[in-house]
Amino acid sequence: MLFNIAVLLATLVAMEGVGTLAHKYIMHGWGWWLHRSHHRPHLGMLETNDFYLLALALVATALVALGKAGYPPLQWVGGGVAGYGLLYVVAHDGLFHRHWPRHPRLLQPYLKRLYRAHRLHHAIKERTGSVSFGFFYAPPFEALKRQLRERRRD
Ligand SMILES: [Zn+2]
Ligand SMILES: [Zn+2]
Repeated sequence: MLFNIAVLLATLVAMEGVGTLAHKYIMHGWGWWLHRSHHRPHLGMLETNDFYLLALALVATALVALGKAGYPPLQWVGGGVAGYGLLYVVAHDGLFHRHWPRHPRLLQPYLKRLYRAHRLHHAIKERTGSVSFGFFYAPPFEALKRQLRERRRD
């Protein structure tokens, strides 16, 4: 049991790395056509960017199915992927973008740091030149602002 929980937690941590890289190189790369909607003003609850969440759900389901079929720890990897997706919805859609009816003020320094970094990520509406691609780790705000200034100058 302890091993399984360790697998789940390690997957959660690893997923932040995977998520950051995917956001930077896929979503802001060849997958921009799906992510673009998320960098534009939008009206409804859903956007084409949500396909990425759907893809994540499919990966999690496939991992759990593979785990059940033969290699049990894969179920916990799948659980970690699903858990990351859930945390992403709560933090990114709920707290960063206020897609929910309640808008709590972010007083907790860690959440505030994530929120401000994500606002800076959205300061750029185009595919290139953005900063801070992670969702649960953010570099210091001042460093990000400096990066943005430098990129705008280029
Ligand atoms: Zn983005
Ligand atoms: Zn966002």
